[in-house]
Amino acid sequence: MVNANYEYTQHLMGTTVSLMLLEPNETAVQSVFETIKILEYKLTVNRPLSEVMSINLAAGQHPVTVSRPVFSLIEQAQKVSLHFNSCFNLAIGPLVKLWKIGFQGDQVPSVKLIKQQLLLTDPKNIELDANKHTVFLKKTGMEIDLGAIAKGYIADVIKSILLQYQVYKGIINLGGNVFALGSSLTDDNGYWHIGLRKPFSTDDKLSGVIKVINKSVVTSGIYERFFIQNGHLYHHIFDPQTGYPLDNELESVTVISDSSLEGDIYSTVFYGWGLDKSREYLQKHPNLSAIFLLKNKTIALVNPNNFIFQKSDKQYTIKL
Ligand code: ADP
Ligand code: MG
Ligand code: MG
Repeated sequence: MVNANYEYTQHLMGTTVSLMLLEPNETAVQSVFETIKILEYKLTVNRPLSEVMSINLAAGQHPVTVSRPVFSLIEQAQKVSLHFNSCFNLAIGPLVKLWKIGFQGDQVPSVKLIKQQLLLTDPKNIELDANKHTVFLKKTGMEIDLGAIAKGYIADVIKSILLQYQVYKGIINLGGNVFALGSSLTDDNGYWHIGLRKPFSTDDKLSGVIKVINKSVVTSGIYERFFIQNGHLYHHIFDPQTGYPLDNELESVTVISDSSLEGDIYSTVFYGWGLDKSREYLQKHPNLSAIFLLKNKTIALVNPNNFIFQKSDKQYTIKL
């Protein structure tokens, strides 16, 4: 999608991060990329020295003091996990590490190992002290994993940095986690055009285009990180109850919202709930919208008042 003339990209957070602006702004861009590096360094579980890893390495031993943003993100993630414990769980780390999906050596683990790791994923065993900003994982082997919300959180931070630099229009793309800031100048009605990838397409085909003004557009799907063993597809969003990748009718869920953190939380939660339960929830929350791509090649648009969707693939049929 050519939405804006000035594009800046860097490989960060294991993905291609890009900023598209209407006018060049080196200072704003530099500040954005610096901030992403700092936050990634604090939040990742793929480096031993991150703040989150220092919490994980002290599991079962002692509380760890962390910075304010990390504490606040963990606090929110724990709340969501306790509230939506059936499908969203920030303590999912031991399972992520066991399955290694998307990394070298990914394979279906033994039932025994899955059961063992499941015992280490209770979010109630994360003890937070809001005065001291400490986090304590009560059992040895527990691990926090913020993979399902970090990009959303970072997208919101980037948005506020751009606004500080008086950049009011542009696209923040953190590898599928998009914030369309303000309105676009290339569309008569001011809509930004965001491509929605066709699941499993090898040549970057789109299933459609999402048109929004000043919204976050976050997609969780089974086609980004997965492996196939004995004809079965294993992807990277887990069912915290079973320890296996969630198995349902969905290929992807896209959430359109004002906050990207919220979008990232709900894209994972809705993936876990499936279409019917998510639709029920969305009917009570009209400020959130979602696009569900189903394995049977239908597309469900829920609360389509906040966006326009234009299908671009014949294989799919839209159902409201
Ligand atoms: P994406 O990686 O495409 O942004 P999500 O936002 O749904 O997709 O995040 C998936 C990541 O979240 C996984 O790679 C893993 O690190 C973590 N994760 C996997 N299953 C769960 C779950 N049930 N609850 C919370 N986090 C999860
Ligand atoms: Mg995400
Ligand atoms: Mg998510």
